Amino acid sequence: MNELGFTTEMIIGRDVGVNFALVSELAKQIGLDIKLDAALGTLTTYRVGGKSKIEVIVRQNEDLGLISQIVNQIDGLGLLVLGNGSNVLVSDDGYPGLVVRLSDNYAYEKFNDDVVEIGGSRALPIAARRIATKALAGFEWAVGVPGALGGAVRMNAGGHGSEISESLICANIYDFEQPSLGLSEISNNMLGLKYRHSVVTPTQIVINAKFRFKFGQKDDSLDKISRIVTWRRENQPGGQNAGSVFVNPPGLSAGKIIEDAGLKGSSYRTATVSAKHANFIQAQPEGCARDVHELMAIIRDTVMQKFGVRLRTEIRLVGFCDDYGLTSSEDY
Ligand SMILES: Cc1cc2nc3c(=O)[nH]c(=O)nc-3n(C[C@H](O)[C@H](O)[C@H](O)COP(=O)(O)OP(=O)(O)OC[C@H]3O[C@@H](n4cnc5c(N)ncnc54)[C@H](O)[C@@H]3O)c2cc1C
Repeated sequence: MNELGFTTEMIIGRDVGVNFALVSELAKQIGLDIKLDAALGTLTTYRVGGKSKIEVIVRQNEDLGLISQIVNQIDGLGLLVLGNGSNVLVSDDGYPGLVVRLSDNYAYEKFNDDVVEIGGSRALPIAARRIATKALAGFEWAVGVPGALGGAVRMNAGGHGSEISESLICANIYDFEQPSLGLSEISNNMLGLKYRHSVVTPTQIVINAKFRFKFGQKDDSLDKISRIVTWRRENQPGGQNAGSVFVNPPGLSAGKIIEDAGLKGSSYRTATVSAKHANFIQAQPEGCARDVHELMAIIRDTVMQKFGVRLRTEIRLVGFCDDYGLTSSEDY
């Protein structure tokens, strides 16, 4: 019997491993806001893919310790921290584990002169506009990135010549596998922030982060934001996609190589290489994750055959049994 009162027989189902109904029941007993068979694919910007077995919403910091009890007591329980789902592709079979999301209680900015604390679930475009309105400069670029702050720190998101690492002071992070550490303030230089990379692990959640911006002119920042929004509309497709599929190989543009390989505008069943930006794959309302996934593999193989360049995915793949070797090295 473990700390939560689960016996091994209760936790491990006969054929399928974790008994999620029971986990859900017991999680509710300890006070968590938990849901079985929760929407997942539809929460992502691809808007394709299946459900998660179980989902929990973090309403307050106290929930973190409770989630940690579940994660550490139940063998084989996979964990996915989800932000705005703008950089993930969820398999049509869904995710056979626990999805953790921050509630809107973490969607905020707190201003203190040139220092701004941004909550982990705050959408970057909203943060960018609010920060500009306070006449602080340096976050305008973020208006074009449809992620939430936590995912942006994890990915070291960036654009228009800037990225998270440039203004980040520190992030508050909780590790579900190391609850004894509590919430840890990790400074910028300890986060290993590189191009679309950080050392934040799949068992860690970014709760909020502090940034230092430059004092500037509100109108200049708002003008810059308008220009970025216009540029995005003209150069990137809307609809169901998750931005750049592949990271740029050193010294090269993934979009340009895919275009040079003749793939721009081409389709595989319901998935299409965008005619506007070749590093974007568009899904369709009646489409499926499998088609997006297979198109990724076709692009990767075609570029390898034509140019000998190996493309690595920026998109995180969730719940795929066979990843076709489409490694982002951080898939779930
Ligand atoms: C139209 C479009 C344009 C885009 N343009 C850009 C761009 O210019 N630059 C750019 O960098 N990206 C871009 N992206 C990709 C994406 O918006 C970013 O990677 C964004 O930072 C992902 O944030 P998210 O909250 O959606 O994360 P998710 O997609 O939900 O998750 C991405 C990764 O972060 C982890 N994660 C999510 N939240 C947290 C958290 N709170 N704590 C710890 N880990 C977490 C997840 O487990 C996963 O590994 C674009 C996407 C779209 C759809």
